[in-house]
Amino acid sequence: MPQKIVVKIGTSSLTQPETGLLALSTIATLAETLSHLRCLGHGVILVSSGAVGVGCARLGLTERPKAIALKQAVAAVGQGRLMRVYDDLFSILQQPIAQVLLTRSDLVQRSRYLNVYNTFQELLELGVIPVVNENDTVAVEELKFGDNDTLSALVASLVEADWLFLLTDVDRLYSADPRSVPNAQPIALVSNIKELAELQVQTGTQGSQWGTGGMVTKISAARIATAAGIRTVITDGKNPRNIVKILHGESIGTYFEPRPEPTSARKRWIAYGLVPAGKLSLDEGAVVAISQAGRSLLATGITAVEGEFDPQDAVQLCDKSGSEIARGLVNYSSADLQKIRGRHSREISAILGYEGAETVIHRDNLVLT
Ligand code: GLU
Repeated sequence: MPQKIVVKIGTSSLTQPETGLLALSTIATLAETLSHLRCLGHGVILVSSGAVGVGCARLGLTERPKAIALKQAVAAVGQGRLMRVYDDLFSILQQPIAQVLLTRSDLVQRSRYLNVYNTFQELLELGVIPVVNENDTVAVEELKFGDNDTLSALVASLVEADWLFLLTDVDRLYSADPRSVPNAQPIALVSNIKELAELQVQTGTQGSQWGTGGMVTKISAARIATAAGIRTVITDGKNPRNIVKILHGESIGTYFEPRPEPTSARKRWIAYGLVPAGKLSLDEGAVVAISQAGRSLLATGITAVEGEFDPQDAVQLCDKSGSEIARGLVNYSSADLQKIRGRHSREISAILGYEGAETVIHRDNLVLT
């Protein structure tokens, strides 16, 4: 059966570690593999990093720039070079490709989100492989995907992909960073991401010298994708042909099982498309009510309000320890919530002087994360 497959490759796999120059054989094998998958009838999307890395190599810079304007300028140099290489290779294989550059704000507005969805649908129907990256040259710091692991998970969720492959510079997830801990244990299967916390998997936040990711961003990408019902695999970027073997059932890399009951498209947009404008801290009763009983959030369970937001903005909901447990769309502004937090619903109209909603976040607008 034709599948929708999103493949993300990082800068560490696309470039040679010593020089930062392109790893041509890897890129060529990737192009062959993805073209092959297209020939088998699958829909394929490539999320490729490398704009900044390739730009650095082109300009002879010896390290990834930190200053934002310089990084954005370097990305503008590198993105064009990168697409040129992809287009040459895919053209030899008679596979059309397209460049899709996204910013975080493209997903915030629901109409733009749906528009991006429609564009991907058309491209896949045309048999094109979209090559996606963050639009690094115009993205502003407060509104960035930040890393392409997250971007690829959001794209996979947006297009309702069957598979997400995160290609990286280690062959799979380990119980600790195998680059520094020699007896780190490989992990082949993750049935539930919460298990990882129990296994005390220590994930390096450090990516390579040139990329921005690391295992932490891969695991959070897997969390987003598996919640959307997408099979997710972390595997070695130097062997792109493994993708075909994995699709045939071979156990290579780390496989994250999808959640059996994926969240709806609208709830996924609330949880991951929107950028939270504030944070609500909840007492234990409220945490249990929303996470175990599927209830709406009431003012009485809110202990603290952070940030400035308006009704219908997205906020994070956190437990006593500050860990996020859910996101949702609020019915009240932050200013009003400061006045009614901890209070009973029947007191709200007297405090605010108007008849507001009974719930602070209705359960239809609330997503566990
Ligand atoms: N968008 C960045 C680039 O193309 C990479 C982000 C990442 O490394 O995840 O250079």
